[in-house]
Amino acid sequence: MIKRILPILFILLVVIACEFRNEEQVLPVETKTKNEEVIKSTSSKYPGIEVESKIVENDHYRYAVHYPIFNKSKIDTQVRSILNDRINTFVEKFTNKEKIEGWPHHYNVDFRIEYLTKELVSLVFTESTFLGDEKVIKERTIPMNFYLETGKQIILEDIFLNEGYLEKLSKISVEQLKSDDTIKKSLQSDWLNIGTKPIRSNFRQFHFTNKELTIQFGENQVGPEEIGSPVIVISWDELEFLIKDDFLPLLEKEKRNKKDKEEKKVVTEKKTKEKTKKSKKGSVKKRVAFTFDDGPHGQYTKEILDYFDDNHGKATFFVLGNRVNYYPELITRIHEEGHEIGNHTWNHKQLTLLKNSDIESQLKKTSKAIYSITGTKPTLLRPPYGSTNQVVSEVVNLPIILWSIDTLDWKSRNTKTIVNHVMTNVTDGDIILMHDIHQSSADAVKILLEKLSEQGYEFVTVSEILGFNEDHVPVSGKVYRK
Ligand SMILES: [Zn+2]
Repeated sequence: MIKRILPILFILLVVIACEFRNEEQVLPVETKTKNEEVIKSTSSKYPGIEVESKIVENDHYRYAVHYPIFNKSKIDTQVRSILNDRINTFVEKFTNKEKIEGWPHHYNVDFRIEYLTKELVSLVFTESTFLGDEKVIKERTIPMNFYLETGKQIILEDIFLNEGYLEKLSKISVEQLKSDDTIKKSLQSDWLNIGTKPIRSNFRQFHFTNKELTIQFGENQVGPEEIGSPVIVISWDELEFLIKDDFLPLLEKEKRNKKDKEEKKVVTEKKTKEKTKKSKKGSVKKRVAFTFDDGPHGQYTKEILDYFDDNHGKATFFVLGNRVNYYPELITRIHEEGHEIGNHTWNHKQLTLLKNSDIESQLKKTSKAIYSITGTKPTLLRPPYGSTNQVVSEVVNLPIILWSIDTLDWKSRNTKTIVNHVMTNVTDGDIILMHDIHQSSADAVKILLEKLSEQGYEFVTVSEILGFNEDHVPVSGKVYRK
């Protein structure tokens, strides 16, 4: 029985990262009212799981909702219906609101799988709502847990032996919340006591891995709004004697310790291999800077980030301001993973055709949008179409970054063509132009990173490859290509 159980998520991710297949182009399968586009994509980093996306983009509001398809009708129906309700709530809420120029209301849902075995899945949806008139992004997480066979949602009563677990969860909650530095000042004991009382309704929202259980409290459950929706994380070990005998094996506890060791071994072996590879190629490192224009994109930017993560590389994303507000969570991820974010104007206007004041506002608005999410202003500009002139150079307050290799990926939309073009032309120090809004480009990135790594290339940001730093400050309006 144990042998049949799938390995834990971590292993799955590693395996999938290594064996990611080239998937078919994403095809829009149906178009609904409100111009809703439902995109069914077979590519997912989780084995056997597809991703479906519902996307609407109009002047008034936008939403992009991504969710997993298990090809188990009972689960898929539940997930779709819960998210449809959320979408409808969003649309109704904003249909009557006034349109705010440049700040469309938007709603995004993304998900991650916390734990997946043959028997069950624990997943978390992250929902972000942006209210154009309030200019705040509201985030919320929605955990869901299912038995894969029956499609039944897992509730705490399925996991724990008897009501005794409620006392235990209550006690641990109080301890953890009180010792959480970020919220303890805002806690009030009356509020906390009610919100953590040992009753079922206080602990409904949870997700888990094979190591720990995470309980999520609702807004205003244990304290005022400012503390948001706090979570507590409890190791299964701490709850062990409260867990039902038939649930315990589903957590693969017996295998856990052994697994941890195996994982470590795999990682060490991989590292040694990498080292050998490097020393074979000699110590001179060649570098290239990948740049991605026109994003972020809900699916392909994510895939590209995963590939760079797998290869320990960095890239530069020249984003459009109006898409920044569309995918704030992706901007955060790009920033947090150490990539560079550059300015590609607000809505892809050709700068050489604009009045000075419009050039300025295109840049300013975009930088502001990026800053409001990451706390860092972009220091590079890539003008749309690479189009620039003397006037643009005089008006802009950022260095103008062009490229030395143009993959023409937007034109060919062909993974092989893109790969071949780069591999025949690449030399040390190149800046490569791509677009993170096409499946063929994302697929090409995966292959290119592997091939270039084998040739001893490292992947760095534009600022790094051009040697920008405190002693070598880039010149505003100057054009850089390599
Ligand atoms: Zn562009």
